[in-house]
Amino acid sequence: MAHDYYETLGINKTASKDDIKKAFRNLAHKFHPDKKGGDEKRFKEASEAYSVLSDDKKRAEYDAYGRVFSEGAAPSGGQGGFGGFSAEGGGFDFSDFVRRAGFGGGSGAQVEFDLGDMFGDMFGGRSTSSRRPTRGRDISIDVELAFPEAVFGAERRVLIGKTALCNTCRGSGGKPEAGQKTCDTCNGKGQVRETRRSFFGSMQTVRPCTACRGKGQVPSEKCTVCHGHGVMKKQEEISVRIPAGIEDGEVIRMAGAGEAVASGTAGDLYIKVHVGKHSLFRKEGANLITELPIKLSTALLGGEYALKTLDGDMTVKIPEGITHGEILRVRGKGVPVSGGKRGDLLIKIKIDLPNKLSKSAKHLVEELKKEGI
Ligand SMILES: [Zn+2]
Ligand SMILES: [Zn+2]
Repeated sequence: MAHDYYETLGINKTASKDDIKKAFRNLAHKFHPDKKGGDEKRFKEASEAYSVLSDDKKRAEYDAYGRVFSEGAAPSGGQGGFGGFSAEGGGFDFSDFVRRAGFGGGSGAQVEFDLGDMFGDMFGGRSTSSRRPTRGRDISIDVELAFPEAVFGAERRVLIGKTALCNTCRGSGGKPEAGQKTCDTCNGKGQVRETRRSFFGSMQTVRPCTACRGKGQVPSEKCTVCHGHGVMKKQEEISVRIPAGIEDGEVIRMAGAGEAVASGTAGDLYIKVHVGKHSLFRKEGANLITELPIKLSTALLGGEYALKTLDGDMTVKIPEGITHGEILRVRGKGVPVSGGKRGDLLIKIKIDLPNKLSKSAKHLVEELKKEGI
């Protein structure tokens, strides 16, 4: 059975929204488990009461039926989660407060209180209004490679439209020759004091000055190229080194080549590689594989074949008596690996049998037959 929420907060049924807020604030301060003499149970009870009475709909239900039916209502048993707190006005996000305090979600068993962290988040420098991105976004692009480029590696220049550091001011946002002056906003201190009205009364906070980004100095004149932003949209040509032996679908990461942010870290550039097929060769690890069709007579007698490889033309010596499917290995003509070494070129022999024999050929084969071949 739920407690009497009005009793819990020490107010009567005609209490205004302000009274409810005030009452909860006092109790939250008094019973907060982090405080000396705090009382976790009472704090939870007060939170639950507040979550209902501060919500017009839930309050009306509670007044009429002694319990709440709305979505996210506290279960009447008082156990488990108290989900569904609505955000409070005035820049104070009550739901966030309650979530941090461990009341959100279903279990409600995990109760963690960190007053400093809680206040830091709610009232401190991490508030959303003064938050700046400290890392630029990542960019991903696709690059098509010809088969030989993937085998031997390549240098590719790609044009990327992105937010990049301004070349003129190198990201400072100031006209380089004009120098720096003391920041007017913080008088050179690099931080500003702020008094904010909050749920718990007025809070003094110190946060880094956003005008000078905590440096205390600002450029005397704005950079004319980027208009003081330090970064700007532009097309940037980036040279990408494709390592030898890269596989289709592999991704190269270039740290810091993504989008830039003023006084922060640039994001990364991800390059997904697509390798085209080759009509003669395929790659298997460090080896290149090709098929070589030879005549039956060459298989029997041996001979030489001209082969176009990725390294240029070469002559392949076919030993006599080679069989179909046999592999000739040419060492060091495969994919470059570390240490200046290369894998092998594997030539798979394919014996082309004639579909149709001429009369004389047939006669010759019959002669072979007599020889036991
Ligand atoms: Zn600039
Ligand atoms: Zn400043």
